[in-house]
Amino acid sequence: MSSVYFHIPFCKRLCGYCDFYRSVKLKYIPAVVEAMHRELREQAAFLHDKSIRTIYFGGGTPSLLAPSEIENFVKQVREQFDCSGLEEVTIEVNPDDITADYVAELRKTSVNRISMGVQSLDDDCLRFMGRRHSAQQAVEAVRMLQEAGYGNISVDVIFGVEGFGGEVLAQTLQGVLAMGVQHISAYHLTIEEGTRFGRMLARGEMRETEEERSEAEFLQVHNTLTKAGYEHYEVSNYALSGCRSRHNSSYWQGVEYLGVGAGAHSYNGEVRRWCEQPIEEYIGGVEYGSEELAKLDKFNEYVMTSLRCAEGISLGKVERDFGIEKREMLEREAVKAGVAELVVRDGDGLRILPEKMLLSDLVISSLMEM
Ligand code: SF4
Repeated sequence: MSSVYFHIPFCKRLCGYCDFYRSVKLKYIPAVVEAMHRELREQAAFLHDKSIRTIYFGGGTPSLLAPSEIENFVKQVREQFDCSGLEEVTIEVNPDDITADYVAELRKTSVNRISMGVQSLDDDCLRFMGRRHSAQQAVEAVRMLQEAGYGNISVDVIFGVEGFGGEVLAQTLQGVLAMGVQHISAYHLTIEEGTRFGRMLARGEMRETEEERSEAEFLQVHNTLTKAGYEHYEVSNYALSGCRSRHNSSYWQGVEYLGVGAGAHSYNGEVRRWCEQPIEEYIGGVEYGSEELAKLDKFNEYVMTSLRCAEGISLGKVERDFGIEKREMLEREAVKAGVAELVVRDGDGLRILPEKMLLSDLVISSLMEM
């Protein structure tokens, strides 16, 4: 089954660390929404498998759209594809967009999963990151959604923010656990060039967290959340039993997805495609960048995505899909120094120890074939 992703590339204000594809030119929202409907109509043929299991509204800030506009997209997906097996419709929301009216309207739509950017429950940390909301607003927003009947809520948390580790992070984690949400995504702050944090770093006005500190905070997150009953199922993702993100899991399992909007990516098993136009150009007509994936690309992709997940690599699948040489290569590389301490072999599987997941890139680059 396939997935559809809608990228809503607008934000009221830019966060200090953000290098996602987004714009503050809110006046373009109506024209972009119209262009996205057109793109969806014209690009349905990109997917070979026309049965849709998940729909995801990401951004940017999808909660800048009215719930009725979100539902209009879902309606169009239902018209163009087979949605008899549709299981999950997720919207990313910002806490300050969540009002009683918004939630009441959202409940009338097909959205059955919420992903909220909480990031921290410390107001100083939130201000430092340039978030628009307070800790209290985030707590209230989750409560409103729960009272309205949403029982599948995910919140994002950021750690590795210099000056806001230790006790501050502990309080955030405890606060998030007290919310009683089903899913938690925890990301280490990355400072990219071109962002406000990138400029501050270049001017010496902020520091990156030292490696040792990063590892300690990663373990703090891992230990706190797993002790509370959340399964650490992907490098940055934790879920209560049965509450993994189906949409994101499908990316990691290599299923087809159609991305709609400026900043969205698509994949149909053969071709990877993306649109990176400025929104002013996107409105006039979509242009894609694309690459056809060779067998080696698919092998590397499988190694990369599966090692980021708790289940790891299936050596049987590698042998079936890519040949015995690739399986033997992985088995050889996995016992070499630098990798052997981080991975575990059990039966058919080769996986990274959950508490070592922060070092997954190191293992992945050792096992990919160039
Ligand atoms: S709200 Fe999200 S997408 Fe928008 S600037 Fe902040 S982090 Fe980036």
